[in-house]
Amino acid sequence: MTTETDSPSIFSRIIAREIPATILAETDRVIAFPDIAPKAPVHVLVVPKTEQYRNVVELAAGDPGLLAEMIEVADSLAAELTGGDFRLIFNTGQGAGQTVFHVHAHVLGGGLEEGSLG
Ligand code: ADP
Repeated sequence: MTTETDSPSIFSRIIAREIPATILAETDRVIAFPDIAPKAPVHVLVVPKTEQYRNVVELAAGDPGLLAEMIEVADSLAAELTGGDFRLIFNTGQGAGQTVFHVHAHVLGGGLEEGSLG
C-alpha cells in the first residue's frame, strides 16, 4: 500500500527507469506517461521530476513556474492525443483520493461526458 511517506515515490522510480513506463514527453523538469489504470480513453500523468512537493498547493506556493511547465506539457500532449481538449485533475489529500504524494496532474481526454466532473 502507498503511504504519505513513500520515498522514492513510485513516480521517482519511473523517472529513474527502475519501473517501466512509456514516456510520452520529457523535459529537464517534467515527465509524462500513461496512467496504468486509465479512467478515460486518454489518461496521462504529468509529473515534476522532483518529489519535494506532495500536492499542487505546495507546488503552486513553492515553484509556480514548474506548475506552469506541467500545464504546458499537458496542453501539448492533449494537442497530440485528444485534438486539444482535456481535463486536468490534481487529487489533493487522501480524502480526495490522492494515493501518491508526489504531485502529479491527471490529463484526461477523449470520450468524456459533457458537463461531467467524474
Ligand atoms: P488515485 O490512485 O486515486 O488516482 P492519485 O491522484 O494519487 O490517486 O493518482 C495516482 C495514479 O497513479 C493512479 O491513477 C494510478 O493508476 C497511477 N499509477 C500508479 N502506479 C503507476 C505506474 N506504475 N504507472 C503508471 N501509473 C501509475
